[in-house]
Amino acid sequence: MPEVYDVVVIGAGVVGTAVARLLSHHHLEVALLDAAPDIGAGTSKANTAILHTGFDATPGSLESRLVARGYALLNDYAPTVGIAIEPIGALLVAWDDEQAASLNTSAEKAVANGYRSASLI
Ligand SMILES: Cc1cc2nc3c(=O)[nH]c(=O)nc-3n(C[C@H](O)[C@H](O)[C@H](O)COP(=O)(O)OP(=O)(O)OC[C@H]3O[C@@H](n4cnc5c(N)ncnc54)[C@H](O)[C@@H]3O)c2cc1C
Repeated sequence: MPEVYDVVVIGAGVVGTAVARLLSHHHLEVALLDAAPDIGAGTSKANTAILHTGFDATPGSLESRLVARGYALLNDYAPTVGIAIEPIGALLVAWDDEQAASLNTSAEKAVANGYRSASLI
């Protein structure tokens, strides 16, 4: 292990590990630190694995742009490193009238955010 690092990335969730991986492509000594004993033990561990959460994000927001960009990047990246992706979709269930009334808005948001496969069933 080197005694001096060029970059120290603090936090080994999905964001920190991705940043460290990109930096590792350069001539840099990179350390990835986490307070927990393993990587991905924070919020990343709780992820539902919905790859495009476009029904949720506010159209035009930074989140909306990053969700769409991340979706495209992951679809390109996953096969190159053997990450299996099964496009099985997801069901957003309305449990009451109020939630049922918001389904149309969610479907419209998905389209506005660039996801065109969402439909009401
Ligand atoms: C229940 C749930 C479901 C979700 N489902 C989805 C989904 O389906 N699709 C989706 O796109 N997103 C989903 N998300 C959001 C997504 O999981 C988060 O946006 C993402 O995991 C955040 O990653 P992160 O690397 O920024 O944070 P984290 O994964 O929280 O990583 C931060 C790391 O920093 C470490 N840390 C913090 N402070 C310090 C310190 N001082 N020193 C050292 N280490 C430190 C923590 O231990 C942790 O490992 C979901 C979130 C939740 C909670």
